[in-house]
Amino acid sequence: MTDALSERFSTEPYWTESLPPLPRTSRELPNNVDVIVVGGGYAGLSTALTLARANKSVIVFEAGRVGEGASSRSAGSLGNLPKAKLAQITARYGADVAREVYREARLAREYVERIIVDENIDCNLQTRGRVVAAHSERAYAKLEASLPTFRQTMGEVELLNSARQSAEIGSDAFHGVLVVKSSATLQPALFHRGLAHAALGAGVFLAEQRRVTDISRTNYGFEVVAGGHRYTSSEVIVATNAETGRDTSIMRTLRRRLTIVPAFALVTEEMPADQMRAVLPHLRSFSDTLQILHYMAPAGDKRLVVSGRAGRSDRDLRTKARRLFGFFQTRFPALRDARVSHCWSGTFALTDDWIPHIGVEEGVHYMLGCCGVGVPMSTYLGHRIGLKILGEETQASAYDRPLPSIPYWPANNIFLPAAVRALALRDRLFR
Ligand SMILES: Cc1cc2nc3c(=O)[nH]c(=O)nc-3n(C[C@H](O)[C@H](O)[C@H](O)COP(=O)(O)OP(=O)(O)OC[C@H]3O[C@@H](n4cnc5c(N)ncnc54)[C@H](O)[C@@H]3O)c2cc1C
Repeated sequence: MTDALSERFSTEPYWTESLPPLPRTSRELPNNVDVIVVGGGYAGLSTALTLARANKSVIVFEAGRVGEGASSRSAGSLGNLPKAKLAQITARYGADVAREVYREARLAREYVERIIVDENIDCNLQTRGRVVAAHSERAYAKLEASLPTFRQTMGEVELLNSARQSAEIGSDAFHGVLVVKSSATLQPALFHRGLAHAALGAGVFLAEQRRVTDISRTNYGFEVVAGGHRYTSSEVIVATNAETGRDTSIMRTLRRRLTIVPAFALVTEEMPADQMRAVLPHLRSFSDTLQILHYMAPAGDKRLVVSGRAGRSDRDLRTKARRLFGFFQTRFPALRDARVSHCWSGTFALTDDWIPHIGVEEGVHYMLGCCGVGVPMSTYLGHRIGLKILGEETQASAYDRPLPSIPYWPANNIFLPAAVRALALRDRLFR
């Protein structure tokens, strides 16, 4: 096997490589607006778009370039499920809330699809479905036992045993597969860029490289310091997800309710169409049943995007890329001579209950804790905050509940790599 890394290996996200910067506008930033949004990812842009379409004046302050956060770094899976299992949510909040959380996860996916059509966003949306491969006999038996729940939560699914799985994956290293027909993928940076254009078109002020360093209450609303200048607004929304730092007192408070998980993704060099089909015959996305799962999907017609090993503290991106892609190369013979052209890092934010939250803290709205499903959830929940501010919600969102505190924070962040190693070991020992 040759080295898994291309000679032109890059540590920048593949998705943004040929994306020109957003056009600069000559519009001067107003000092006072209806709403200030902190963070220019999916959540911030989606909130801003909803509000601007209702004639609110909105500034989005972004510390770096708009889209530099996770929104242009993801693997592009557009699912319709939360990370938390139905049983977990039921145990914590009851069956009614669990049902609503799942129902709204489907709405989130539909909302993204609608916005792609309405805003004419060209982001390579593909609805080819997902193959979930059992890593052991036991995992297959669990998939089989859970089929009624899967049908209830995922819609059309099909289970194929190991003798039939070659119809779906070019690997005999797994113990059967579940095919989920509804799963989709998109090009995350193009989707983000489409949202940015829509927001600009609706009159939103996008202020790049303006880090928000203070948010304080006034008699009339809020005063916000961004890039060293003062601005006032009636409402403020914090939409900084895993990038929530110690910039302001409210962000410090909210950050303590998040576990920040290092994650990364890679993309292969171009390969012929028959090689792609030898790996994934129907070009569906792929994931396995391990606790720290592995994911792979077509990235356009000629490449594959891969992610996994989230939370692992590998030395550097080259090491990460070799280890992660090595996992796939040993299981998919058609990938033996394929090589990785890009591998980049990012972070995602986990909450204590593994569902994203919107809420209000000291009068400031927030959308945080996307739990790795932010493509649909950040976009949808950003929109929901917009509706809430406009007073247009007919029913409160099931995700609108205070971010729970995390026991032993920040120890959970410090010991995260060890906890992830323990989960991986558990996968190996109790197959
Ligand atoms: C490697 C990887 C793979 C992933 N794969 C998937 C996937 O396949 N499917 C999926 O659904 N999700 C995936 N995710 C998660 C998804 O990308 C995120 O949940 C989503 O992008 C979060 O969007 P956001 O708008 O909430 O946050 P972000 O896009 O992170 O935006 C937050 C922004 O806030 C800005 N900011 C922070 N502090 C300040 C400040 N003080 N002032 C101004 N601006 C500030 C940051 O610069 C950043 O741009 C993945 C994430 C990673 C890292």
